[in-house]
Amino acid sequence: MQNLCDYTLSELEAYLVESGFKAFNARQVFEWIYKKKVTDITKMSNLSKSLRAYLAQHHHIDGLKLFTKQVSKDQTTKFLFELEDGHLVEAVLMKHVYGMSLCVTTQVGCNIGCTFCASGLKKRIRNLTLSEMVNQVRMSETLANTKITHVVIMGTGEPFDNYDNVMRFIHVINSPYGFEIGARHITVSTSGLVPKIKAFAQAKTQVNLAISLHASNNKLRSALMPINSVYPIETLIDSVKTYIAKTNRRVTFEYLLLKGVNDTIQDADHLSDLLRGINSYVNLIPYNAVKEFDYQGSDVATQKAFHQRLLKRGITATLREEKGADIDAACGQLRANHAK
Ligand code: SAH
Ligand code: SF4
Repeated sequence: MQNLCDYTLSELEAYLVESGFKAFNARQVFEWIYKKKVTDITKMSNLSKSLRAYLAQHHHIDGLKLFTKQVSKDQTTKFLFELEDGHLVEAVLMKHVYGMSLCVTTQVGCNIGCTFCASGLKKRIRNLTLSEMVNQVRMSETLANTKITHVVIMGTGEPFDNYDNVMRFIHVINSPYGFEIGARHITVSTSGLVPKIKAFAQAKTQVNLAISLHASNNKLRSALMPINSVYPIETLIDSVKTYIAKTNRRVTFEYLLLKGVNDTIQDADHLSDLLRGINSYVNLIPYNAVKEFDYQGSDVATQKAFHQRLLKRGITATLREEKGADIDAACGQLRANHAK
């Protein structure tokens, strides 16, 4: 039985027409699922009896089971969902002054193998399907009884290693008949898969692009992120420039602050030299320690000094506020702790 959340609107239109129904029925089905949050197909009362019977016979809507959840002192909620084949994926709901954001997982495991990241501890087992991503949003909204206003595609996995499904996912959450989350409220973060950054530039969406940089020289970046040996910094920056030229959008560079690794004033100077003139800003991320690794986060004074140095050298930068530090909120940690 195919999950009804496995279609974008245009795919569902095509499918329903092919099955003898009307294209506009797809919009109605979308509204039932994503706006009215109905999971029982028989309750979709404005659909004809024959369409309801057809859908109920061939489709279902659910597909994720809540395995466990953790709520932190700052109300960050981490959901651990069980997929139909038993794998566990996590989604993190965060409350901000501007709304509610959800951090969504795109793969079981991750093949990029960054040396600081809990998600990379397990090789990619498989890509998530469209419905598995959509249902993280749908179920988190239902479980927390809230409206998600922002989606960050920054959970476990490399989104651009599951490019097609991630793009379809963006369509569904952005659709006026789906979750209706504005493109500018959606962010996709990549470790730097250059061909896909170029494809993303061609797609010309208003979705925000974030690049995990973490180092401003190739030696260090390759040590932290093996992907850098394939797409070194110069190639990566070139693709980002192409993206900016095509979309006229500002790019975010994420930079983890790792104690004694990449957090000196000289590092800040190199970083500002690298990014000067590029329409971008730097998001400094305090590192959440992962017990399997020796890395430690920079202390607060170092974080602040690094931040100030970037500002002084004309680079727009923010220091990310740490959320959910008490509940293993760093990517992959809750799953890593439960996976056998
Ligand atoms: N694979 C994509 C998206 C998921 S990771 C990427 O790498 O961009 C999202 C962000 O979380 C990345 O910037 C990643 O470097 C960062 N991250 C990974 N482990 C972390 C940790 N333990 N503490 C803080 N940030 C972490
Ligand atoms: Fe994968 Fe991103 Fe973690 Fe690197 S940081 S291992 S790309 S999830």
